[in-house]
Amino acid sequence: MTHDAAVLTGPGTFAFTQRALTPPAPGEVTVRVRAVGICGSDIHMYTDGRIGTSEILSPLVLGHEFMGEITRAAPGTVDGTGQPLQVGARVAVEPHVACGHCRACREGHPNLCPDHTFMGVFPRDGALQTHLNVPAHNTFVLPDSVTDLGGAMLEPLGVALHALRLGHVRVGDRAAVVGAGPIGLLLTQLLHLNGVTALHVTEPLPWRRALAAELGATSTDPTFTEEHDSRYDVVFEAAWADGSVQDAARLARPGARVVLVGIPGNDELRVQHSLARRKGLSLILARRMAHTYPEATALVAAGQLDVDRLVSATYPLSQVQRAFEDHAAYRPGVIKLMVTFPHGPA
Ligand SMILES: [Zn+2]
Ligand SMILES: [Zn+2]
Repeated sequence: MTHDAAVLTGPGTFAFTQRALTPPAPGEVTVRVRAVGICGSDIHMYTDGRIGTSEILSPLVLGHEFMGEITRAAPGTVDGTGQPLQVGARVAVEPHVACGHCRACREGHPNLCPDHTFMGVFPRDGALQTHLNVPAHNTFVLPDSVTDLGGAMLEPLGVALHALRLGHVRVGDRAAVVGAGPIGLLLTQLLHLNGVTALHVTEPLPWRRALAAELGATSTDPTFTEEHDSRYDVVFEAAWADGSVQDAARLARPGARVVLVGIPGNDELRVQHSLARRKGLSLILARRMAHTYPEATALVAAGQLDVDRLVSATYPLSQVQRAFEDHAAYRPGVIKLMVTFPHGPA
């Protein structure tokens, strides 16, 4: 049996291939993919062939924000929370595969494991293909109240939730978010839920600013303005743009916590040292996420967050090139783009 895969063969170019469907290795299950979100990090790899120091050295299948349904699982297999996995179960998949026995893993920080692989980052293929095998403990069974699109949103929601935890947000805090892409908009919703008394969002794209306001921002600006200088107890940088860390430092009050979630294209963190030092800022760098899927799933299932709202368009796999082009160009209305798969026979 074969399946279709969209393979990134070089910067800006996808090719479609038919691949043999290999049986799952011990501890793995086969997932038939149903929805895959396109991430800013995918766009870096699509346009530049790299992210940070991770370079794509041979054709790669991108896609790390995804869900699907189990088509093959050995009897007795369980998901990441110990729930039995049956054929037909809808699951979200955590893309980060940690080694499980290094010091970081043993101390409860699998996201910091130096000996990991990540689905959709070279050399491990991701989910822009009809089927893939994944470790069973990376899957999380989805309740019916979480849609397919919502299931694929649990990965970026986990990133936002992890950043929120690193920020130690308290009820009554004044918070700011730099950048209202999907992560910034998820942080906006999470901060709103956490009872912050002011929630300021800076974002250059007007449709994203408008959505931030709908989702709980109490003020928005296209860029940093003096009016918001030094006002916030906790600031989240989720912009991936030049100058965004500096803007976050300017928004922060003395003694504030500044959580950096964005990944700069040029692999450099730039902030005016005297500004950060005189304010005594805590700069906290977020690395992916850890232990977030159960809570992220519960938040969405309970209707406390509207993650489907962020999905601005869906594309079939055959249109993946167009989806990436639309995202890379930030066409008006683009927030989270997803590739979805028709429900054919398994
Ligand atoms: Zn992502
Ligand atoms: Zn490890």
